[in-house]
Order: sequence, then C-alpha cells, then structure tokens
Amino acid sequence: MTYQCIPVGQLAANCCLVYDEQKNAAVIDPGDEAARLLTLIETYGLQVQAILLTHVHFDHIQAVKELQTATGAPLFVHEAEVPALTDPTFSMVMFPYHLSADRVLRDGDTVEIGKLTFSVLHTPGHTRGSVCYHCGDTLFAGDTLFAGSIGRADFAGGDFSAMRQSLMHLATLPDETRVVPGHGGETTIGFEKRSNPFMIGI
Ligand SMILES: [Zn+2]
Repeated sequence: MTYQCIPVGQLAANCCLVYDEQKNAAVIDPGDEAARLLTLIETYGLQVQAILLTHVHFDHIQAVKELQTATGAPLFVHEAEVPALTDPTFSMVMFPYHLSADRVLRDGDTVEIGKLTFSVLHTPGHTRGSVCYHCGDTLFAGDTLFAGSIGRADFAGGDFSAMRQSLMHLATLPDETRVVPGHGGETTIGFEKRSNPFMIGI
C-alpha cells in the first residue's frame, strides 16, 4: 500500500491517494483543487476505483464532482452521512452542491480496491456519519482524530458523547497504528493515547 496525502483548499484538508502496486487507487476526501489532484493522478498513473469520504463537510468534498467526471469513479459514504450530501446545514457548503452516493457504507464493511482492503469504522461525533478507513497498519481518520487534538463536535450533526465513544473505539487499535488525519500531520494511536488530552485515560 502506497499513499500520498495532499493538503488542499483553504483549510488544508488532507486528500489521500491510496494505491496498490498495480496502481489501483482510492481517493479519500478530495476536498478542493481538482485540477491539481487530477494532474497527480495522471502523473502517478493511477486507476481511480473509488472516492471514499470520511465525512461530508465542504472542505472534504469540493473536488468530488470533477474527479467523478474525469475518472468515472463511484462515491462511497456512510449511511448516516447521506443527508449531508444534499443538505448544506450539515455540509456547510456555501453554494448549491449536491452529490449522490453510489455505495452506502456501514460499520464493519470492507471496501476492496485492487489488492487493498479498507475496513470501515463508524466513528460518529464530528458528524453523524464520520468514518475512519483502516488499511493495513494505517488509519485514515478524517476529522475524528488529529495529532494532539480531535475534530470539533459542535457543528450540526456533531455529538461530543458520541465522539468520546468513537475515541474509545480507536484506543483499542494497536499502538503502532499509523494515523493520517483529515488535517495536519501524521501520528500513531499509541502516541495519541499517551499525549492527546482527549485520549489520555480514555
Ligand atoms: Zn469536518
């Protein structure tokens, strides 16, 4: 498994290109800068098989349509996040922007992309349908867990007690699990359990 994470847009949301040796790829959270992402996809010679969303906030979705048009890839999103695809109350998009899911995910589902298997962990709290995608030893965590912090739970659909449950769930993963957050740099579950004020003692 190889991945490249590209901070895109004003909020520097991490868009991750994840692929196997045959260049079968998933794109996680194409938040903005579609032209730049498409150039990278072409440069690496990737065959985009799916677009996976960790959640439906504007800064994670604004390049979805252009990537779908260019690649024909289907859009995968958790079932509890489907309303946000068309409702700006949840997505916080500032302009008409409607998406539709090609596959609706549930906790425990797996997504096969070439030789890669992504396990879906439903981690509500930042939004109702937030998920983390676990592939090999790497967790693509969206806005649930950041290095030293966590995602906000005070937006529409946010729920701090659900977030706490989700963090307890993540704390059961092996310490060496690499975490690629939706914003900022990488970390590990073990490091966050020792140092993140929201995970210490959870
Ligand atoms: Zn978010």
